[in-house]
Amino acid sequence: MKFYTKLFLLCSLGVAFIAVQWSGSSFHAESLKGARVLVTGASTGIGEQLAYHYARLGAQLVLTARRGNVLEQVVNKCLEMGAQKALFIPADMANPADSDRVVQYAIDQLGGLDFLVLNHIGPSPYGMWDGDVEHTRWLLQVNFLSYVQMAKKALPTLENSNGSIVVVSSLLGKVSNPFELPYAATKFALNGFFGGLQHELAMQGSNVSVTICTLGLIDTETAMEKIK
Ligand code: NDP
Repeated sequence: MKFYTKLFLLCSLGVAFIAVQWSGSSFHAESLKGARVLVTGASTGIGEQLAYHYARLGAQLVLTARRGNVLEQVVNKCLEMGAQKALFIPADMANPADSDRVVQYAIDQLGGLDFLVLNHIGPSPYGMWDGDVEHTRWLLQVNFLSYVQMAKKALPTLENSNGSIVVVSSLLGKVSNPFELPYAATKFALNGFFGGLQHELAMQGSNVSVTICTLGLIDTETAMEKIK
């Protein structure tokens, strides 16, 4: 066998070994049994599906969104699927007081938090920006400022539990595109803030981890409605 062929095979084996080690250490389903999880935007779409995943793994859940009647149905399904506990609290993240209220409710009901999953978004039109600054301000409150406020409120309890903040963001928070300017601005803001927070927490030796999920198109009802 030629030297370069040997070298290539050796490198390939090395890469395969690292990949196996990497994938083996990344996820332990057991660790989510009994985990205390708050999911926002859990009445539909990705938030609803995330709630079902946590439920199947036996987590304890608090779910929030604006529509209590829809959340109630999601909570019942979570209990059927195996959630140790599932509760809901209706809240409107356009109202700054609701961010703290929701986190406090989850801490009181679950005795602390292990995962804060920030996922909700307010409705925004798909099309050329119409110059509506008020809507942009409102969307920043719902899609960004409420995330910051909930993270701040949850940080002390997450510190106690070696917990995690999960932020659901978007490719539109990385690359500028037409037709969704205010939405994209809120996602850029999330990436900037929580990306920086990741570093600051590490610099302070904090036990809290921050995961930013950068999603492409997922066929939720809201997303499909926009592109049809
Ligand atoms: P949905 O529109 O399906 O869900 C949005 C959720 O937010 C709903 O539960 C809604 O419930 C809640 N919500 C809306 N307004 C408010 C408010 N004012 N206060 C509190 N909750 C509110 O969105 P998706 O599931 O499609 O998206 C989920 C996440 O994934 C978002 O962060 C989005 O940016 C991200 N993402 C999605 C992509 C996709 O293609 N689907 C692509 C990239 C990122 P209710 O109406 O009951 O309040």
